[in-house]
Amino acid sequence: MRECGEKMGGLDWGLETFATVATAQGAETIDNPRHLAGTLDAIRGVQREISRKEEAAKKASGRSRGFPISNRLRKAYDELRRLHRKVANQRHDFLHQVSARLIKEFSALGLEALSIRNMTAKGGQHKRGLNRGILDAAGGAFHQLLKLKAEEAGAWAVEAPTRQIKPSQTCHACGQQEKKPLGQRWHSCPCGASCSRDENAARVLLAWLERSLSGREPADAWREVRPGHPLDESALPSKRETHAIA
Ligand SMILES: [Zn+2]
Repeated sequence: MRECGEKMGGLDWGLETFATVATAQGAETIDNPRHLAGTLDAIRGVQREISRKEEAAKKASGRSRGFPISNRLRKAYDELRRLHRKVANQRHDFLHQVSARLIKEFSALGLEALSIRNMTAKGGQHKRGLNRGILDAAGGAFHQLLKLKAEEAGAWAVEAPTRQIKPSQTCHACGQQEKKPLGQRWHSCPCGASCSRDENAARVLLAWLERSLSGREPADAWREVRPGHPLDESALPSKRETHAIA
């Protein structure tokens, strides 16, 4: 009856690496697709062209607003709109593909609760502007899709209480907490743990998931790990009774 897989995993979503998934067997990274990156580059190029042409038109007309728009500039605006539609479609397809594949493999995924603040932190300093804006929005959409597909398949995709478990600041191996600067992409701890920042975060999420689920009824486990929070019913599989019977 189950359409989801058997694996349990922690998933860290980011901008540089689209996602890092940790399981008991190891970690896997999922990169942003090249064609998406190519379209983002093209968008940056057209935007540079547009600002050059606008500056020239402003200078020539002596007006900062209402300057005449040349055919070439109009064409560049059209091209920008076309590329925006393209990137939206590419992103949409990619998010659907990745979330479908993950739910096929996993029965439980622990995700980091995304806030605007930590999405910004995940970007690093060099990913500013449009690129960032487009990719930022993907995190929320990706989690939504994972939760939706998980529910349909009788799996779980549940956001962890990020403030309590601090995935990027906690060592997955020993639990020690240390604040990492935004640009620090590697996790190395006095305990000997050494892996990418994203893999560490994914492992912390996996450990949280294992702790939360071990030997308990799922619904009770979620209530326990989210004290003071109303149980998020949408996070639970609709067919959870079948787990108990099976
Ligand atoms: Zn450690």
